[in-house]
Amino acid sequence: MADSVQHPEMEAEVVIVGGGPAGLACALHLARLYAAQGRSAENILLLEKGRALGAHQLSGAVMDPRGLRALEPEFASDPELGAIPVEDDALFLLSPDHALRSPVTPPPLHNHGNYVVSLNRLAQWLGAKVEAAGVSVFPATAGRELLWENDKLIGVRTDDKGVGRDGRPKSNFEPGYDLFAPVVVLAEGPRGSLTKQLLARCALGGANPQVYSLGVKEVWELPANRFPAGRVYHTLGWPIPPELYGGGWIYGLGGNRVSLGLMTALEYADPATDPHNLFQQFKTHPWMRALLAGGELVRFGAKTTPMGGWYALPPLAGNHWLLLGDAAGFVNSQRLKGIHLALESGRLAAEAIFAGALARYPESVRASWMHEELWPVRNFHQGFEHGLFAGLANAALQMATGGRGLHERYPSVPGHERMRTITTLGDPPPRLTPDGALTFDKVTDVYHSGTRHEEDQPSHLLIADTDICNRRCTFEYGNPCQNFCPAHVYEMVFDEHGAKQLHLNPSNCVHCKTCDIADPYQIITWVPPEGGGGPSYDGM
Ligand code: SF4
Repeated sequence: MADSVQHPEMEAEVVIVGGGPAGLACALHLARLYAAQGRSAENILLLEKGRALGAHQLSGAVMDPRGLRALEPEFASDPELGAIPVEDDALFLLSPDHALRSPVTPPPLHNHGNYVVSLNRLAQWLGAKVEAAGVSVFPATAGRELLWENDKLIGVRTDDKGVGRDGRPKSNFEPGYDLFAPVVVLAEGPRGSLTKQLLARCALGGANPQVYSLGVKEVWELPANRFPAGRVYHTLGWPIPPELYGGGWIYGLGGNRVSLGLMTALEYADPATDPHNLFQQFKTHPWMRALLAGGELVRFGAKTTPMGGWYALPPLAGNHWLLLGDAAGFVNSQRLKGIHLALESGRLAAEAIFAGALARYPESVRASWMHEELWPVRNFHQGFEHGLFAGLANAALQMATGGRGLHERYPSVPGHERMRTITTLGDPPPRLTPDGALTFDKVTDVYHSGTRHEEDQPSHLLIADTDICNRRCTFEYGNPCQNFCPAHVYEMVFDEHGAKQLHLNPSNCVHCKTCDIADPYQIITWVPPEGGGGPSYDGM
């Protein structure tokens, strides 16, 4: 769009970008602090790009209750949330044909006292409280651009609506708003597009680069009494190759439904690695096949998770801004948990905003149980750099040394730098052809994510130079975008001269951000599509 477009302006006290657990916790706690002083919360604005709160929220999920209890002590008894206490947990080691139940569940995977939840239901539930507290919530509204006055962040521009594929305004065109506020809170989730803008502009980052995993998830409905509510199983081994970090999960959701998924680190060498296809293979394990027999796919989704830990955290506060939750990188990769950390980061951020002292937020994180929990696992993920077995040895050593291990900081590199060119590799990993009953292709799975986008809009996947895709990547990496994207957005098609050309299907996008992270040339930029587009997760 031309820069000449006039954007309506609005003044606010706080703009929060993102209606996940971190953004909602921040809004709710701040509104309550305001209420205690008799102040209205209407000038706290919360932007959510999904068409409704919760629509883009997805996680496994087993939640440590610590963060939610600080906000809502009675959460466990509220049937609207439907949190299920964990009753049983185990770790299974998988070979292609066998599943061996580990005689002991490693302490980090002990989940007694935790709850199986649906993250998108948690966001709806918290969102209702945020709205009732008087916060101004704008669903279907994406933060498109940060507004600056020299080095000071002064606000957020929201997305224009009604722009055609050709970039011209359509008859329903509405320009985005310029929202000005003394505090901008970025709680966009992993690899947030505004967070990326902010970190690039201010040249900020952690001691280590952030690294990510991609989780591919399906919800299945099973025959009655097959897998009880509150049972939590994790798996290690097949089909994740031993040199790669990752594993599977099966969680009992109640109502005869299970959440199952596979996390694959986006740090692999072979560009033919396809996390969605690995997940489909996971379901063909004899043990999984028996579990799923007679069942039916109900839902699908995919999302990345930041795994780099404490040393990958960027500065958490700056000139009028704060970073929360997954946008900052608050995940305990050893326990596979981040919701409690996201909620607590939101609560601590609200207290700093209320006190008018943003610099207090990083200080209070360092003084809180968040640091107590994350510091001893600061090197956990990096310890798996040389594969599963070295990783397990490192994990044991780190546990014995308070998280230090062999040296104070295990360095890491961005995951895409680990990808190797196809000429340096042997045969690609085996691929599975879906059968449409137990295993599914990407398009069928996308259908089960409820994903919808306005078709007539500019692509929200910005490729800086498609010549690199068509002429270099084809020969160097074999166009790994076709493999790492779990939603069949990237396709190489032949043109009339028989040459490969990149073709995009942006309307399939489930907003997992993998392409922005894993592209070996770093020429893909994910930006939010017109607000409201994307998945419509339900019970995920
Ligand atoms: Fe994920 Fe990118 Fe594919 Fe969208 S296009 S589903 S963000 S990998």
